[in-house]
Amino acid sequence: MPSLFQARLVNDAFGDPALYVEFREERRALLFDLGDISALRPRELMRLSHVFVTHAHMDHFAGFDHLLRVVLGRKASLVLFGGPDFAAQVEHKLRAYIWNIVHRYEVELVIDVCEIGVDRRGRWSRFSSRSGFAREAGACFELPDDVLHEDAIFRVRGRFVDHGIPCLAYVIEEKAQLRVAPDRLAALGVTTGPWLRELKHAVLTGAPGDMPIQLQWRDRKGEHVMQRQVAELRHLIFDVVPGRRIGYVTDLRYTDANIETLAQLLADVDLLFIESVFLEADQAHAARKNHLTARQAGDIARRVGAKAIVSFHYSPRYAGRAAELVTEARAAWSGSPVRARASPE
Ligand SMILES: [Zn+2]
Ligand SMILES: [Zn+2]
Repeated sequence: MPSLFQARLVNDAFGDPALYVEFREERRALLFDLGDISALRPRELMRLSHVFVTHAHMDHFAGFDHLLRVVLGRKASLVLFGGPDFAAQVEHKLRAYIWNIVHRYEVELVIDVCEIGVDRRGRWSRFSSRSGFAREAGACFELPDDVLHEDAIFRVRGRFVDHGIPCLAYVIEEKAQLRVAPDRLAALGVTTGPWLRELKHAVLTGAPGDMPIQLQWRDRKGEHVMQRQVAELRHLIFDVVPGRRIGYVTDLRYTDANIETLAQLLADVDLLFIESVFLEADQAHAARKNHLTARQAGDIARRVGAKAIVSFHYSPRYAGRAAELVTEARAAWSGSPVRARASPE
């Protein structure tokens, strides 16, 4: 069964990190990190519903202005997620401009910002073009787990890793997909209809098992109606196919604590995008810069059980040598014996 979404890096491995995640059946997309995103076309930016920022170093956040420039006056809403002080960082960017006529724009732009603390306490802030992007304080909350955003068909989890500063690592998870078993529909004596969509939605959104579903369908013998409960129908009609999971991990040190955090967040992820800023030969430099080497990235990918790996965020010092970074990361990921020695940071 095809995945609900498709993920691709916005830039090449030497460019600013950013992952564009597009939904196949909806005109909708998510973005992870907001550095140089000029390679995205305006219509791709218009599709963004949520943007998840890892941290506010320039290469991850300088594209905010470009995004705002494209969507202002055209798009109604945008939701941004980030770590400590994120609402103030967004506010400072907005305060850098004069907004004396923006309240008259026909399409109001509302930017909702979700700031998450390392203690999992968070708060919402709202910036609306109607009020010149003055900050409006929203609800405070405490996260019971690492789920940052829950949607009917997917969720996004995030956990903090150490990059000298707190930095969010993310995973996007497709919820389990429900495959309709046509033979069982036939055995039940029913045919498909709008009720099937209703049932699917009820199951995916965790509706109570005793919720009634009115099965309505029409065949040669005419119109039929039958009432059943969600719990009995789900097993009769669906096969559950596990959803796909994609990890986005960039800007972190190679420490046991970070590896432990990522193991919890990313266990058996289907595809892992992970920074590989330096070669292992420059490991001391990587440690000073709070970044991973390609070998360390591959090692993390292997330890969390990633089924596929894409390395990125290469240092410009390796221009023309991308293949070495790819090879080093993949060798460590596959556990190949040619990988460089494993040594603690
Ligand atoms: Zn950084
Ligand atoms: Zn960076």
